[in-house]
Amino acid sequence: MDLKQYITIVEDWPKPGIRFKDITSLMDNGAAYKYATDQIVEYAKQVEADIIVGPEARGFIIGCPVAYALGLGFAPVRKEGKLPREVIRAEYGLEYGKDVLTMHNDAIKPGQRVLITDDLLATGGTIEATINLVEQLGGIVVGCAFLIELTYLDGRDKLEGYEVRTLLQY
Ligand code: 5GP
Repeated sequence: MDLKQYITIVEDWPKPGIRFKDITSLMDNGAAYKYATDQIVEYAKQVEADIIVGPEARGFIIGCPVAYALGLGFAPVRKEGKLPREVIRAEYGLEYGKDVLTMHNDAIKPGQRVLITDDLLATGGTIEATINLVEQLGGIVVGCAFLIELTYLDGRDKLEGYEVRTLLQY
């Protein structure tokens, strides 16, 4: 299946000059969403993941159905102030300033094999911070799976040494 036909390019959103890749037009098509999910399920089996981790909010959309399909757990990564219990933190750079991602401090057990999921790999900052959180807890990042990769932003450079799988490239 050619998944690209289900991605809607939105010109100048959220800012002038940005060509936003809207994945909602893939998600609302049952066959396309299932096909994409199945690809990542196969990858999760290959890397022998035993838990899935994804950053809010679109990392949940990709990762939760994969976890469900394999009977695995899913651990959410969220912006600061959203998780109710004790968290660990990782800072990451934005275009202007910094932001923080957090995870419950008991979400991953040391030695667990973690597959990280998100909808899109751009500069790699979000996923780098997510890897940092998993490793703080002693998890082993066995793979990173994305629906879309913006190859011209070279996010893979930040992920050197990690297994990366992307289903669509621009
Ligand atoms: P990065 O941290 O790799 O620069 O940016 C990736 C994050 O920004 C992902 O969590 C993703 O959800 C979001 N993102 C950036 N650009 C786009 C886009 O064009 N489409 C979608 N769907 N998400 C984007």
